[in-house]
Amino acid sequence: MPVEVRERECASDVIAVSLPQFQSTNRAASQQRIRLTASAHVPAAPQKVRDGGRMLDSHGRTILDLRISITDRCNFRCVYCMDPDVQFQRPENLLTPAEIIRVARVAETLGVRKIRLTGGEPTLHPQLTEIIAGIRAETQVEIAMISNGSLLTRHKLAQWKRAGLNRMTLSLDSLRAERFARLTRSTVTPDDVLAAIELCLAEGLTPLKVNAVLVRDQNDDEAVELARLARTFGIEVRFIEFMPLDSAHAWDRSRVVTAKETREAIESVFPLTPTDADEPHSTARTFSFADGSPGHIGFIAPVSNPFCGACSRLRLTADGHVRPCLFSTQEWSVMSVLRGGGSDQDLSNFLMDVTWTKLAGHNISSPAFVQPARPMSAVGG
Ligand code: SAM
Ligand code: SF4
Repeated sequence: MPVEVRERECASDVIAVSLPQFQSTNRAASQQRIRLTASAHVPAAPQKVRDGGRMLDSHGRTILDLRISITDRCNFRCVYCMDPDVQFQRPENLLTPAEIIRVARVAETLGVRKIRLTGGEPTLHPQLTEIIAGIRAETQVEIAMISNGSLLTRHKLAQWKRAGLNRMTLSLDSLRAERFARLTRSTVTPDDVLAAIELCLAEGLTPLKVNAVLVRDQNDDEAVELARLARTFGIEVRFIEFMPLDSAHAWDRSRVVTAKETREAIESVFPLTPTDADEPHSTARTFSFADGSPGHIGFIAPVSNPFCGACSRLRLTADGHVRPCLFSTQEWSVMSVLRGGGSDQDLSNFLMDVTWTKLAGHNISSPAFVQPARPMSAVGG
């Protein structure tokens, strides 16, 4: 397999490997599309909605959960997420910590209860502790963070916890070193992420979840091995279906390993029992082990079984756009409000107006589906 080193921008241990089956097809077209659709001029929600002071959409859903991508950069190039030669935003185009904290504060006044810091790789952000501390000082929301687990140390975790971080989610797609390197196009090993799991548990950043994306013919034979981690560590391992959010735009349905398939593979070894613990707007359907072992298994099935009807999420991109949905092809520039002298009331109205534009659901299954220009790493997964 040809190995092409294209970039060493984020961390010294990054290598970028070009996999023929995951190559960019239409990035230029995508960038053009996103330029055309990003706008500050969101249509106003009805006055009675604005008066309600909640982020309510026109389908009766309320936003409780804000995902904030604090950086689009990453030290991995996961095959299902980021191209080796992905272009990052210039730093001046990114939200500052003060801007992120301000949006978080206003979002809480509108009903947000959970904030998840994401990316890119959020632990690369040089002011991460300041961001966590600022959100904690200004709000009482639950603060969670998702990370690839490659850069965690006991010291950093303790610092983030002291600053106000409540819990962590880590991502781990393979327990086999060579495969992990191929999937993440990094020199990090599964053992590094396993060590990160232990550190998060030791630091009490719980309940800890581990996300895994299975991609057909890449790592779809590892469902049981990954599920076993839930039992070993007493954590929740969540299998997320591969979504059309890769920067290479190489997704196709044949590469998706459905939640049903994954569940069947796991149950051939570890029978599962549904829990009744899922909140109605939860993305995952959660199971416990029928033999009473500790740990849980979650399935997130946006492709085979969309859960749009109960969506309570809004996403803020690192470059200051609010996206009503992961799959939105329309996004709205909060940066213009923040840097255009908007008051907190303007910001509130903006967030309520954007929420009102939320579509009833995505249409991945329709032939008319258009993959959004931005990959998962840019939109706050
Ligand atoms: N870098 C961090 C990480 O990997 O955990 C946080 C950002 S990453 C975009 C957040 C989550 O999105 C990860 O669990 C990752 O596996 C998942 N993800 C990325 N691209 C995806 C895709 N195309 N389909 C499904 N999940 C994806
Ligand atoms: Fe980076 Fe996370 Fe995307 Fe992998 S999934 S490339 S770790 S942002």
